Amino acid sequence: MRKIFQLDDALSNKIAAGEVVERPASVVKELMENAIDAGSTIIEIELEEAGLASIRIIDNGDGIAEEDVLTAFHRHATSKIKDENDLFRIRTLGFRGEALPSVASVSRLEMKTCTGDEGTRVVLEGGKVEVMEKAASRKGTDIIVTDLFFNTPARLKYMKTIHTELGNITDLVNRLALAHPEVAIRLIHNERQLLKTSGNGDVRQVLAAIYGMNIVKKMVPVIAESLDFKVSGYAALPEVTRASRNYISTMINGRFIKNYSLARAVQEGYHTLLPIGRYPIVLLNIEMDPILVDVNVHPSKLEVRLSKEQELNELVSLALKSAFKKEELIPAGYVAP
Ligand code: ADP
Ligand code: MG
Repeated sequence: MRKIFQLDDALSNKIAAGEVVERPASVVKELMENAIDAGSTIIEIELEEAGLASIRIIDNGDGIAEEDVLTAFHRHATSKIKDENDLFRIRTLGFRGEALPSVASVSRLEMKTCTGDEGTRVVLEGGKVEVMEKAASRKGTDIIVTDLFFNTPARLKYMKTIHTELGNITDLVNRLALAHPEVAIRLIHNERQLLKTSGNGDVRQVLAAIYGMNIVKKMVPVIAESLDFKVSGYAALPEVTRASRNYISTMINGRFIKNYSLARAVQEGYHTLLPIGRYPIVLLNIEMDPILVDVNVHPSKLEVRLSKEQELNELVSLALKSAFKKEELIPAGYVAP
């Protein structure tokens, strides 16, 4: 007698959601990344109760055509890659085709989307399509996710306080804003505005919105280029430090990533200028051929694998050192050991 059966879509999406949708911040991440991938120049995020009650993301990107709307909610359905070749040349933030089906499977989701002509409205509950109709709207996508985890009680119980969940979301939105100064981002929580960036492309303005003007005045530009990498950003003078590594933000091809050895390389760039146990405030945007970075390591794509990691680390350290030499914090003749 047969014992092995294929799970139905709803259940397998819910299982995938366990990995992709850990907490409200994961929903905000996935939906904002989709908005950025869609070429949006304005993204608005409205939250109630740190996203546990509702998360609304409105963008002015390309929208989804009516004939694609239902497919977008299928697992592994994506417009971003087509074949194996593309998998090694990822230029978009998404590519796994998992976010929409996963989020939809653990919430009530309403989406209005429009490519420019007539728009579409779709409502899903626990991943099941309840409504699909034509709807007038302007170009872009407007998604409202309510009652997150209503059908996964164990996950819901695991949620921390509003304060903690909101902290996770603001961290995430700040990072995406830093990685994408060309997008105007507004974050609103319970009708209070927590972040607003202009979208004029000047990352210093984003830094000012997040860390304050006084910190930005104490940041120096960092730039370096090698055959494979282009590094640019800002580093705070060693007189401004923090007690955690969290203020070292590294972006690779527009994606915020966590990489211990890269963070070490940043610290090394400060030579002996940092007090022990203190960390700098640094923002680095690193551009490289996507073939050099494997983002297909974890569903959240926070960790990546880099080829030529050593070369990049050396370039980063050197870039910081030369920025501080310009500031005459490291003697001009100094040769690193
Ligand atoms: P992925 O981002 O990995 O492709 P998703 O499940 O997040 O997978 O989204 C599925 C598809 O739906 C995307 O490939 C994209 O074509 C479309 N899509 C999702 N969100 C948006 C949006 N805000 N604007 C335009 N298209 C979108
Ligand atoms: Mg996506």
